Amino acid sequence: MPILGFGVYQVGPEETEHAVSAALAAGYRLIDTAAAYGNEESVGRAIRSSGIPRDELFITTKLWVQDAGEDNTKRAFDDSARKLGLDVVDLYLIHQPFGDYYSEWRAMQNLHREGRIRAIGVSNFSPDRLLDLILNNEITPAVNQIETNPFHQNVDYQMLMRTEGVQIESWGPFAEGKNDLFSNPVLAAIGAPYGKSVAQVVLRWMIQRGVVVIPKTVSPERMAQNLDVFDFVLSDADMSAVAALDTASTQFFDHRDPEWVRRLSSRRLG
Ligand code: NAP
Repeated sequence: MPILGFGVYQVGPEETEHAVSAALAAGYRLIDTAAAYGNEESVGRAIRSSGIPRDELFITTKLWVQDAGEDNTKRAFDDSARKLGLDVVDLYLIHQPFGDYYSEWRAMQNLHREGRIRAIGVSNFSPDRLLDLILNNEITPAVNQIETNPFHQNVDYQMLMRTEGVQIESWGPFAEGKNDLFSNPVLAAIGAPYGKSVAQVVLRWMIQRGVVVIPKTVSPERMAQNLDVFDFVLSDADMSAVAALDTASTQFFDHRDPEWVRRLSSRRLG
């Protein structure tokens, strides 16, 4: 799995095709989408028109909260794969830790054994739910994709995941700009001597921590900027300065908040 990829949350269907085409041309090979984003077909079109060999690409999509039952998971996966135009999906994630995700996991284990999914994982799972899933199933999730950014760093959780053999993947690496991330003086000062932007410092800090990261942008200039993070190394002092920004709390919402459990569980894809 590439350590750095490209996310397409909140990108409309038409814009997604342009953005993914530009991202692939810029050099991204990991694309992160989801059934709930409504843009899998656009991702599929961009993949096909890129001419990039299939085995060079790493495509992730996600299963939305749905009615219980393994058959429903199989149907949802088939639907996503068809929209993407792929026989095999590289990484398939349970998008939210709600509903009958044990039956979903059993179906995903079978799809993995059949060779339809190269790796199966989860997203937004808290430590207790992740560990319970691991302890009571045959296959350990390869990945847990969770909000991770300088204000919400998940350092202890990453250690637990490492112990259990789960790769941490960051969503919202820039906290979508919340808390004035892009003008944060500490991050800007760290980047200045290297001639790097705040965004580049954040991505480099993730990569040095071993966190897979999938920033989103619709700007080709920023796509290039976000990829240009392999020619410098943050010092221990830089890493410590970023570590000190941790507030250990979400910039968005807590998936354990009852109001959000209600809200997300009640959404069904048409
Ligand atoms: P993000 O990557 O933290 O932030 C995206 C924002 O940053 C956009 O407004 C973008 O603006 C801006 N930006 C990007 N690069 C920049 C740069 N170099 N300089 C200045 N601004 C820059 O937010 P995200 O989209 O929420 O997270 C990334 C991906 O994670 C998503 O696309 C999705 O694939 C995934 N995700 C998953 C979940 C989940 O529940 N599993 C939830 C959220 C996101 P422009 O586009 O205008 O450049």
